[in-house]
Amino acid sequence: MGEQSFRTWFEPIVPVQLHNNVLIIQVPSQFFYEWLEEHYVDVLKKSIYQELGPDGRLEYSIVVDQGNSQNKPRTVNIPTARKAAAPAQAATDAAVVAAGAMTSSARNVAAAAGAPVKSADMLRNPFEATKGIDRNYLQSQLNNTYSFDNYVEGSCNRLARSAGLAVANKPGTTSFNPLMIYGGVGLGKTHLVQAIGNHIKATNADKFVLYVSAEKFTNQFIESLRNNGVQDFANFYLLVDILILDDVQFLAGKDKTQEMFFHIFNHLHQAGKQIVMTSDRPPRDLNGLEDRLLSRFKWGLTTDLQSPDFETRMAIIQNKMEQDGIDIPPQVVEYLAHSVHTNVRELEGVLISLVAQSSLNRREIDLEMAKQALRHIIEEVEAEVNLDFIQKTVAEHFGISLDLMKAKTRKKEVVTARQVAMYFAKEHTSHSLKSIGHNFGGRDHSTVIHSVQTVSDLIDSDKSFRSTIQELRKKFAGK
Ligand code: ADP
Ligand code: MG
Repeated sequence: MGEQSFRTWFEPIVPVQLHNNVLIIQVPSQFFYEWLEEHYVDVLKKSIYQELGPDGRLEYSIVVDQGNSQNKPRTVNIPTARKAAAPAQAATDAAVVAAGAMTSSARNVAAAAGAPVKSADMLRNPFEATKGIDRNYLQSQLNNTYSFDNYVEGSCNRLARSAGLAVANKPGTTSFNPLMIYGGVGLGKTHLVQAIGNHIKATNADKFVLYVSAEKFTNQFIESLRNNGVQDFANFYLLVDILILDDVQFLAGKDKTQEMFFHIFNHLHQAGKQIVMTSDRPPRDLNGLEDRLLSRFKWGLTTDLQSPDFETRMAIIQNKMEQDGIDIPPQVVEYLAHSVHTNVRELEGVLISLVAQSSLNRREIDLEMAKQALRHIIEEVEAEVNLDFIQKTVAEHFGISLDLMKAKTRKKEVVTARQVAMYFAKEHTSHSLKSIGHNFGGRDHSTVIHSVQTVSDLIDSDKSFRSTIQELRKKFAGK
């Protein structure tokens, strides 16, 4: 290191004691200590390792100015949790280190994050040397009901799920860093990222996993601005090994919070820590998020969750029934899966209300009850013209059976009907091209583009075709 740095940061250090492979050094201030940990931890670690071997440890003694000139400065010890271990192991130890090195206000942030501070003593004397500190107060804020086991796999979530699993098995070491999962409301983003967190926590007890919604992150940050605790806020987040930030769209337009997140993101990413995020829309539509932040997201993997298809909806209901010990006749399950396409949360909501009604009225769940429960939802869905309605109407009009909309057959009249239905699906629903293709027997989005183009061309060139389309359009108009 340069001479200037040495003079500034190493000359003021006073060696205090070397005992049982623990070297205690005295530093002039908390800030000084933090600076050393931040900038020179590697050289310190290496030297300790060289001199004392793998069991060597470093502890800091900080001169605390109580702010009262009559009081003599007090000395408190902080163990560096960074053991002088070989670098690979040091990484896993970093959280332990950091936990020991946590400042009092960082503890307050931890407490604000919902983490209970372990003992009253710690509050009274937060700088006390806390060997073997109980890291439980670094609570991860995870909800352990969310797991991969109860996350039903389907084509709507296959890629996101397997990327999530990869990250959960090897946090920070895959190229999926950050992992960004986006998708509409109620499609399972929170469940999936919580499952990642729970899996890591279960398999890496020494890693500090933190789940936080972008909203909570923002509120904590604002609070820290108010309390002059920004540095502590940052310090707390820098302790994290796996940061899960849910609903990142919430940061849109909040420049200061974004700046802080950018700083934390860079630091963690550089240190090989895993970052997982969710958003309710694709990054390109995250207006109000700074470009430099958006460009960071591209470093890793961005993947989406689609609306669940019929089979996945069936599986989700069955899974839920098993999990909660609910008994519902198969035709009701099918009816529900068929009728509720919006999202999984709604599907679960319907199930819960059915169970409630059934126990209130002491009546088994039956089709009648299900239809009753779904009345308002179905009206809503039909009001916006759903894909099923389009497929049914077009199939009827062309005199083919509904199944053929999704079948493999390439018979001319079937192909035409299918193309027309896709055309209207694009016109009247908010489904993406990908999702439309998916709902037509798993065709890909280029097939949908081709279909829409073919129908447009035919409308221009074929008079009788045009009147067919006009007639059909009336059935969807006003809906
Ligand atoms: P989001 O965060 O995208 O709004 P959630 O993760 O909160 O959605 O999911 C809504 C509900 O649906 C949760 O109760 C969740 O457990 C459930 N859910 C979503 N996707 C699945 C799935 N693939 N398997 C099982 N349950 C799911
Ligand atoms: Mg969510």
